[in-house]
Amino acid sequence: MKRYFVTTFGCQMNAHDSERIKGVLEDLGLGEAPSQADADVVVFNTCTIREKPDQRLAAHLGQAAALKRAEPDRIIAVGGCYAEAQRERIFEQYPFVDVAFGPGTIRHLADWLGAGGEGVPRGLFGTADERRFSAALPTRRERRVQAWVQVSMGCNSVCSYCIVPHVRGRELSRRPGEILAEVTRLAAEGVKEITLLGQNVNSWGRDLLPDIGTDFGELLRACDAVEGIARIRFTSPHPKDFRRPVIEAMAESRSVCEHTHLPLQSGSSRMLKRMRRTYSRERFVKLADDLRTAIPDLALTTDIIVGFPGETEADFRETLDVVEEIRFDGAFTFIYSPRHGTEAATMPDQVPEEVRHERLERLVDVVQRIAHERNQERIGRVEEVLVEGPSRTDPALLRGRTRRNTTVNFAGSAQPGDLVGVRIEAATSTTLRGSDAAAVAA
Ligand code: SAM
Ligand code: SF4
Repeated sequence: MKRYFVTTFGCQMNAHDSERIKGVLEDLGLGEAPSQADADVVVFNTCTIREKPDQRLAAHLGQAAALKRAEPDRIIAVGGCYAEAQRERIFEQYPFVDVAFGPGTIRHLADWLGAGGEGVPRGLFGTADERRFSAALPTRRERRVQAWVQVSMGCNSVCSYCIVPHVRGRELSRRPGEILAEVTRLAAEGVKEITLLGQNVNSWGRDLLPDIGTDFGELLRACDAVEGIARIRFTSPHPKDFRRPVIEAMAESRSVCEHTHLPLQSGSSRMLKRMRRTYSRERFVKLADDLRTAIPDLALTTDIIVGFPGETEADFRETLDVVEEIRFDGAFTFIYSPRHGTEAATMPDQVPEEVRHERLERLVDVVQRIAHERNQERIGRVEEVLVEGPSRTDPALLRGRTRRNTTVNFAGSAQPGDLVGVRIEAATSTTLRGSDAAAVAA
């Protein structure tokens, strides 16, 4: 049997696409290899959001070139956002690559391999105009009790630093009937938690109007009504599209978890304007307040970029102020990375490298201190935990997640998929530690 190996870079959307890539390859009769060196088809599902993933990919492709030299029949496939961004040059840049495809054109990989692979001219590329929801493809789910559900593809925002609209195209919402059919099927397969995925998940449905006349709040309510689904998450919402009906749907839907990942990007209204985020610092803070008022005990996490062109020390301090004011439960922090073809890449006042690094370090210190304090506040409480499996650090413990999306390692004897009450005994900035509350009470 021929075997494949898929390496995934980047976001949850890519992790989800990789499940489809694996599903497609298995549908063609391939099995999974334990490593790249053992694989006949080596796939890279790439990311190009910042320079770092580009560099990591270049290192990986260097190794792939050596594998190809050792065994010329081996197929090297490159998919995802980097492939799309470099579509004009990819075969020139990496002559040993056999097939390339963009995000949303996974089917192209199957068509190419299905047509005999080597017999088909190289240079063929699944184009962005052929984009389709990968949900129609076979899948190999990595997690038994949790699943991703794609609700939209592409993005209509024009954030001046971001390459996503260039590589993933205009926003396209998936029809609600299709989404609900998938959620219902997943529930029947034993899935307890779904995460609705979109680049700008809460603008879902806009392009379906007036055809269907729905919004993301209604989608949340419809998913909540599906029997067997205990938890609903979604990522990433855009602050500009977080309207009242969505907040109300979150507050009133039993399965929608008390966690929102709300990307701030910067605490300076001046920077937000240059970033074309279309909200101000004040509007973001008010939204965070409204969310916490409507959903008591809500966990808020965020994305922040430091060193955006023109960012002064005063702008950066405004970001620190907002982080102190909102007290996020966690944050992904990024150094601004110029991306070719984006508006910000040609802005004149780029911030020097050492200043960007210094700001990142200062930001991470504040984020971690607050996340630690927020987690310490959970000590003594009993949290509902969805069990995922054994702990990664101590196999004698179990691992799961709270509704607020914090990882918990705990002593107990539950099965993956069980919902158990765990009494929290200790906390770091990223994880909690505890014991099964029923066992403690016994
Ligand atoms: N669509 C989502 C959103 O708007 O929040 C996620 C987009 S992206 C996959 C995830 C994060 O990467 C963004 O929220 C942003 O903080 C960061 N990011 C995007 N472009 C960047 C760049 N050029 N440099 C540094 N960070 C960037
Ligand atoms: Fe990029 Fe902005 Fe779209 Fe998010 S909303 S994917 S940051 S353009």
